[in-house]
Amino acid sequence: MPINETMVQEIVQAVLKNLDAQGQMSGENTGFAGKTAGKHGIFRDMNEAIEAAKSAQKIVRVMSMDQREKIISCIRKNIHENAEVLARMGVEETGMGNVGDKILKHHLVADKTPGTEDITTTAWSGDRGLTLIEMGPFGVIGAITPCTNPSETVLCNTIGMLAGGNTVVFNPHPQAIQTSIYAINLINEASLEAGGPDNVCVTVEKPTLETSNVMMKHKDIPLIAATGGPGVVTAVLSSGKRGIGAGAGNPPALVDETADIRKAAQDIVNGCTFDNNLPCIAEKEIVAVSTIADELMHYLVTENDCYLASKEEQDALTAVVLEGGKLNRKCVGRDARTLLAMIGVDAPANIRCIVFEGPKEHPLITTELMMPILGMVRAKDFDDAVEQAVWLEHGNRHSAHIHSKNVDNITKYAKAIDTAILVKNGPSYSAIGFGGEGFCTFTIASRTGEGLTSASTFTKRRRCVMTDSLCIR
Ligand code: NAD
Repeated sequence: MPINETMVQEIVQAVLKNLDAQGQMSGENTGFAGKTAGKHGIFRDMNEAIEAAKSAQKIVRVMSMDQREKIISCIRKNIHENAEVLARMGVEETGMGNVGDKILKHHLVADKTPGTEDITTTAWSGDRGLTLIEMGPFGVIGAITPCTNPSETVLCNTIGMLAGGNTVVFNPHPQAIQTSIYAINLINEASLEAGGPDNVCVTVEKPTLETSNVMMKHKDIPLIAATGGPGVVTAVLSSGKRGIGAGAGNPPALVDETADIRKAAQDIVNGCTFDNNLPCIAEKEIVAVSTIADELMHYLVTENDCYLASKEEQDALTAVVLEGGKLNRKCVGRDARTLLAMIGVDAPANIRCIVFEGPKEHPLITTELMMPILGMVRAKDFDDAVEQAVWLEHGNRHSAHIHSKNVDNITKYAKAIDTAILVKNGPSYSAIGFGGEGFCTFTIASRTGEGLTSASTFTKRRRCVMTDSLCIR
C-alpha cells in the first residue's frame, strides 16, 4: 500500500508523542541505570551516557573494518527508509526549513558520507625497512550539534566517527532533541541489526549547557566536535581538549562581468533557498560588479521568483528579523512568503526569495540570517567586489562563492577570501556533493582548519616503524 501524506503525518505525530511520553517516564532500566526504556542510546544522565559509549567503543575498537562497514551500510539503509519521517520531525520540532529539501539532505547523508574507505594507510618502504602511518580511533568523541541540520549532523557525524573506530556522545540542540533522539535510536538499531553493539552513539533526554559541560570536562572524552555558532566553538576551543570547530559563516556570492549572468541568478537562488537558507554554506548575500548588477537583479526578479523589497519593506523586515538588534529565532529557516507575511505583505505563491540592493553595512546583508533574504551589494569593479566580499565573510574562513569565467579573477578571490569552501559557477550545495563532485558532510571545520570533515578527520595518526625488514623490493 503506498504511503500518503496523511499517513506520514500520523506516523510523525505518533513518533513525537511516543518520544515525549517516554521522555517523562520515571525510569525503567535497560542495561544502564539511567537509560530511557524503549529507545537505544538515550540516557537521563550524561555520565551514564558516556559510560555506555565507552563500553560500546571497547567492542568497536576490536571489530574488523568489514564489521564496521556492515553497521554503516545498515545505518545508510535506515536513513533512506526514515528520510521523510526525519525531515518532517525536524521541521515540526524546530519550525525551520522545508520538508522536501530535508528529505534530499537525508538521502545525501546516506549516499555520500564517507565510511571506512576513508581510513587509509600511508607507507614508505626502502633500504631501512617499512614505515606506516595508520589512522586509529580517539575513543569516545563528544559532539555538539545545531538545530539547523539536527538529524543530518547526528547521522553524518556518527557514520564518520564510527568508521574511524570511535563511538559518540551527543549534546544536541535542545530545540531539536526529539529529532536527534529519533536519529540516535535508528543508528543503534542499525548497529544491533548488523551484529554490532548498542550505544555506538548516545545522548541525554534533556541536553543543557550543564550536560555539555559534563561532557567537555569528562576525562574519557579526548576530542570534541562542535557544529554551531561562534559561542559553542569558542566554548569547545577553551575546554582544554582537542576541538574540531565547525562555526558560523556568512557566504558571499560574487558575480563579475564575465559570468553567465542568467545562470548565476538561477544558481544563486537555488542555493540560497535550499532548506530555506539554513545550511551554513548557503549564499547569504550577493556582491555584483556594477556593469552587470542591474542585469543580475532583472534575472533574479523576472526568472527566479524573487520578491524585490522596497526601502520601507526592508526597514520593516529589519525590525522583525533583527528585533531589538538580535536575530529573531522565529524567523530563522522560514520561507520567503512567511517572512513577507510577518510584515503584512501577501506575496504571490511562487515567491521563493526576497531581494534588494543595499550597502554592505545593511543589517540584513552583514548578518548571518539563515533565511531566504538576499541583499545585493554593488561594487565598482572586481577588486572592489573582492574587498567587499572579504569584509562580509567576517574572517569566518567558512564558505564563499563566485560566478565568473575569468580564471585570474577566480584565483584572486580564492586567495583573498581564504575559505574552507569556494564554489565556482554553481549553487552552494554543490560543495557538499549535491550536484557537485566530492563527499557530503554537515560539519565543516572552518575555525580549526580541517575543512569538510570525514571519517579520517576523527582519527589519530600513528606511525608504525619496522627497521631493516619487510622491504621486499
Ligand atoms: P547555536 O550556536 O545556537 O547552537 C549550536 C549547538 O551549540 C547547540 O547544540 C547549542 O545547544 C550549543 N551551544 C550553544 N552555545 C553553547 C555554549 N556556550 N556551550 C556549549 N554549547 C553551546 O547554533 P544553531 O542555531 O543551532 O545553528 C546555526 C549556527 O551554526 C550558524 O551560525 C551556522 O553557520 C552554524 N553551523 C555551522 C556548521 C558548520 O559545519 N560549520 C554547520 C551547521 C551550522
